[in-house]
Amino acid sequence: MTEIKTDKNYQSRMDNLINIMKNSGFLNNSRVESAIRKTPRHEFVPMSLQEKAYDDMPIPIMNNQTVSQPSVVSRMTEWLDVMEGQKILEIGSGSGWQSAILSYLVGRGKIYSIERHSELVDFAKKNLDKLGINNVKVTLGDGGLGLPKESPFDRIIITAACREIPQSLFEQLSINGLLVAPVGEFTQSLVLIKKTSQGVVEIKNESGYVFVPLLGKFDCEKY
Ligand code: SAM
Repeated sequence: MTEIKTDKNYQSRMDNLINIMKNSGFLNNSRVESAIRKTPRHEFVPMSLQEKAYDDMPIPIMNNQTVSQPSVVSRMTEWLDVMEGQKILEIGSGSGWQSAILSYLVGRGKIYSIERHSELVDFAKKNLDKLGINNVKVTLGDGGLGLPKESPFDRIIITAACREIPQSLFEQLSINGLLVAPVGEFTQSLVLIKKTSQGVVEIKNESGYVFVPLLGKFDCEKY
């Protein structure tokens, strides 16, 4: 049993975080709120940082990567408008926290998550196992290439900064599917894209985000 699990204040810390996200306008949807409440963030961060798990901040994990800031995870999850039974591709598994939230939203649907660091693949799998989540498949690989064999996906979420959204991911999105990603080199705009039979349409764009970079074939530095 982890330290914070024994802390009676865990629920009140979660309540506090939820209130912060609601008051700042980053959490508005009751389904997303309930998925976040079911997903104890302290189970997805290193033991030494569990005390910080309910701060609205990114938290460092292995390989110089982070678990994203809760309000940003909430914003991206709300924009994705996830429905029961959907198939979702996540690029950047990290700790598995975002995958876990999505897993509750799809119910009997499925999450495919790709991570480029094997240590983080193991970390995410272990964290998801602890919560008994069995509809997330975490794979080692370059997420910029997607998972053509499992496509098309109803939703795609990229959790690392890309200068451009990799074309292969548009190809793997179903018609009427939604894709959310932070786009930009040093700071990013969060963009929400819809694929229609006529092409892709930008639905939302909000500046002022900072993510770790998407590396691999679509590494910003290679442009
Ligand atoms: N979603 C994660 C969570 O809930 O903990 C946080 C993701 S973290 C901000 C971004 C992740 O993207 C890192 O774990 C990083 O290793 C991963 N990443 C970066 N480039 C990648 C690529 N080309 N393919 C797969 N994962 C990648």
